[in-house]
Amino acid sequence: MSNNVRLLSTDFDGTLVAHHSDPVLDAGCMKLIEELQKQGVIWAINTGRSMPLLESGLADFDFPVHPDFILTSERDVFRRGSNGTRWEPYGAWNTQVARDHAELYASASSVFSEVVEFVNQKTRAQVIHEQDFPEGLIARDEEEMRRIISFIDAARARHPKFHYQHNTIYLRFCHADYHKGAALAELSRLLEIPREQIFAAGDHFNDLSMLDGRYAEFPACPANAIDEVKGTVRDAGGYVAESECGAGVREALLYFTS
Ligand SMILES: [Mg+2]
Repeated sequence: MSNNVRLLSTDFDGTLVAHHSDPVLDAGCMKLIEELQKQGVIWAINTGRSMPLLESGLADFDFPVHPDFILTSERDVFRRGSNGTRWEPYGAWNTQVARDHAELYASASSVFSEVVEFVNQKTRAQVIHEQDFPEGLIARDEEEMRRIISFIDAARARHPKFHYQHNTIYLRFCHADYHKGAALAELSRLLEIPREQIFAAGDHFNDLSMLDGRYAEFPACPANAIDEVKGTVRDAGGYVAESECGAGVREALLYFTS
């Protein structure tokens, strides 16, 4: 137990947002985050969503509380904007992220081509392009995703910096050095809040990097998290909640902060 938590890093879909429940948000969880914010705790949403998709999610689900920071696309770090913009890059991190990814697209182009060819010819998944580059893909189901990941894991053996983040049927290609954990570490560095004062919660594969204890002393997951996440959280000495989604996050926050 500890009342030492100063920074929260929470996933969005499946962690705060219960898509298959009504209501989708847990009122008690929202209230607790609001109270913690009033006590000076900083809240970041750490998500695979892009900034525009997160903004539309916050609006669509009518969030009663607002994050202080958003970490988007499993890599970028934004703070509240100063000149009327809602969010602005925090520090030079996002520029470095973009540069490293541009270099990756150049140096690993043959791996990208091989993967895209496999997906187009051997699966019914859809490759998503951003400008001219393959950004990621959407599989038809999780079984198809497993098949694609086996192929990618073999293909990336000759280019270890070529990696991916995935969550159910969604996969995003990325540089191996960037993931939710790395984005959280950068926010931790900029805010000068050490890992010993950080709480993190998530439910799926793309959350593993922030739940293994490297970047957050207090990892947690809701009851609906996949087994890999529960195992990682337990191994890191974290808290696996009895309740699902937001109610589970609330349970974990109470465990670590009261
Ligand atoms: Mg999730």
